[in-house]
Amino acid sequence: MNLQEIVTKRTGKAISQCSNEELYFSLLEMTKGMAEEKVSNEGKRKLYYISAEFLIGKLLSNNLINLGIYEDVKKLLADNGKSLAEIEEVEPEPSLGNGGLGRLAACFLDSIATLGLNGDGVGLNYHYGLFKQVFENNLQHETPNPWIEKESWLTKTDRAYTIQFGGFNLQSRMYDIDVLGYNNRTTKLHLFDVETVDESLVGDGIDFDKEDIKKNLTLFLYPDDSDDKGRILRVYQQYFMVSNAARLIIDETLARGGDLHKLNEYAVVQINDTHPSMVIPELIRLLMERGILMDEAIDIVSKTCAYTNHTILAEALEKWPIHFLEKAVPQLMPIIYELNSRVVKKFDDKSVAIIDDERRVHMAHMDIHYGYSINGVAYLHTEILKNSELNNFYKIYPEKFYNKTNGITFRRWLLHCDPELTALFESLIGDGFKKDATELEKLGAFVNDETVLQKILDVKNAKKAELKDYLAKTQGIELNENSIYDIQIKRLHEYKRQQMNALYVIHKYFEIKAGKKPARPITVIFGAKAAPAYVIAKDIIHLILCLQELISKDPEVSPYLKVVMVENYNVTLAEKLIPAADIHEQISLASKEASGTSNMKFMLNGAVAIGTMDGANVEMHQFVGDDNIYIFGETSEQVIEHYAKADYVSRSYYDNDENIRRAIDFIVSDEMMAVGCRENLERLYNELLNKDWFMTLPDFEEYVAAKERIFADYEDRMAWAKKNARKHEPGRLLLI
Ligand SMILES: *Cc1c(COP(=O)(O)O)cnc(C)c1O
Repeated sequence: MNLQEIVTKRTGKAISQCSNEELYFSLLEMTKGMAEEKVSNEGKRKLYYISAEFLIGKLLSNNLINLGIYEDVKKLLADNGKSLAEIEEVEPEPSLGNGGLGRLAACFLDSIATLGLNGDGVGLNYHYGLFKQVFENNLQHETPNPWIEKESWLTKTDRAYTIQFGGFNLQSRMYDIDVLGYNNRTTKLHLFDVETVDESLVGDGIDFDKEDIKKNLTLFLYPDDSDDKGRILRVYQQYFMVSNAARLIIDETLARGGDLHKLNEYAVVQINDTHPSMVIPELIRLLMERGILMDEAIDIVSKTCAYTNHTILAEALEKWPIHFLEKAVPQLMPIIYELNSRVVKKFDDKSVAIIDDERRVHMAHMDIHYGYSINGVAYLHTEILKNSELNNFYKIYPEKFYNKTNGITFRRWLLHCDPELTALFESLIGDGFKKDATELEKLGAFVNDETVLQKILDVKNAKKAELKDYLAKTQGIELNENSIYDIQIKRLHEYKRQQMNALYVIHKYFEIKAGKKPARPITVIFGAKAAPAYVIAKDIIHLILCLQELISKDPEVSPYLKVVMVENYNVTLAEKLIPAADIHEQISLASKEASGTSNMKFMLNGAVAIGTMDGANVEMHQFVGDDNIYIFGETSEQVIEHYAKADYVSRSYYDNDENIRRAIDFIVSDEMMAVGCRENLERLYNELLNKDWFMTLPDFEEYVAAKERIFADYEDRMAWAKKNARKHEPGRLLLI
């Protein structure tokens, strides 16, 4: 059925008479119908990409693009006086992920579908996903973020399993979302849910009874894990996810006529970070239930599973106390004990054991011993894994370590979010880049063509004006479109160092007060959610919001400097912010950012990076050269050495550097106390002064210098545009 027929069936009206909501649901029905008609990719070996997060973003426009009907639909609606952009606003964003890790999973599904590979995603159907962020009194508050409406992208399937936990069982149900490839077939995102989930369990904010597993299991992504109840709930969630996945894998393999003794020839399981690690013992257990002996079951599973490491931050490498697992999933423990005892017998090195002396199970260790491949997510990150973090494992299994630098899907991050730039590129190099990003390298031919460079600048100005309108309309934020947009958007974490950017803002504030006005006004834009229990991260948000208020009320400074923190940063906002950016901040402490992917999204949309030699910035720098990226700060080797020697003392920087002292003291100044909370500001002040675990202060002076250079260089508009044209050469960093 075409759109008009669906609209008539649903509403009895003409398109021109429908509300945006009626049109959204009609388009949803049409698109789902078209996706269902497509066949899934085939191949003997099938990939199961298991992930606790799939940060898919809104789906309507991307699906229309990948079906090849976006322009037609847009025109049909426009002919009837309707705007596709406004209809898109009706779609709720499913917030099934935190950040980069979940976004990567979503981008992979797009790639798998487009390339025609045989693979599906498997995860959980969180009803409220990640919390919705609201600001009140310059503080972050969390509220539920419902996204499942009567009709949604989810399709209920017949697949259901009984999942066994210590002392009770839960009934599962599989829901599917079709993921369309660009002009190709589809793959599926399988999201498992519990039949007994109860949304009414949620009380104030995002509080709920963490012990009522039957009702709460799929309410939230990563419930607050600041207490044991929240932590054990994660174990229940993870096992529920992988037990369903393992049963699905076995059933589909058998249905295709496969032989479980050769499961590895029919299936490959990608473990995205450690959250799905229990799939290893669970698959072993299920194979043994089907009569395969333990030795063989372990061997089969070891050839089937592969693990992606996303971080070297120790607190993120999951270690579950044995008593949690004994309580939640007792049936797995005999297998985990056996896996551990084999390791202990073979290797006389406690650091590679699965169970440590404190009786905790190290999920990553299990993945490495009993998986066939371990990958880091950028060149530098993989090198750090091999040479320091996982060196003891690398020495045992050098052949298992691979690097797979993250990528992004440029259908969402260029075609969808910047159709104007896409049209310009198409006019220059044809449309092959829509399927094969390496074709973007053809843009290198235009790097000295001033007419093209001017057009790139014109597109950027149009996107900046669009962002201004969007933020005015949706968040009541006023931007100056003639200012430089300097953007840092990512999860709030001390290692990502939003606090350093905030200290720069304070520095600039003082400079302007002293009469050193910038050549052009600067707008520093932040977007970031902090984990609900991460106190210092929330204090940093408080600092930024206080600066936003204080500076906007200061008539001496506000014409030259503006700070903006957008509320509830998510994929939808990223799609508006990234095409409008002049400068993007990738300033993590070297060695700490595994890859980063917003760096690639910005690069694709012609923004210039200021960054440290960290994550994929290193490879970006290699591609674009010194002139097209602003690198500063200590190297990962220097940072790793500071940690090893424990020789960093933040207070000595405070004592010896006037600018640093002035900026840090300002956090607890009377002016700040007038707009902020003493408790939060003092805690942050003390943290920076006495701890600063992610070493903001040693890089500060170089950071300020790099910012001054980048702002000065911005004024030569043609040279700047040239930097942008060059940004499109490294198609290799993108997913196909
Ligand atoms: C891309 C993306 C991220 C990852 O950003 P990094 O800067 O790489 O950490 C996080 N959140 C959203 C919404 C994104 O789109």
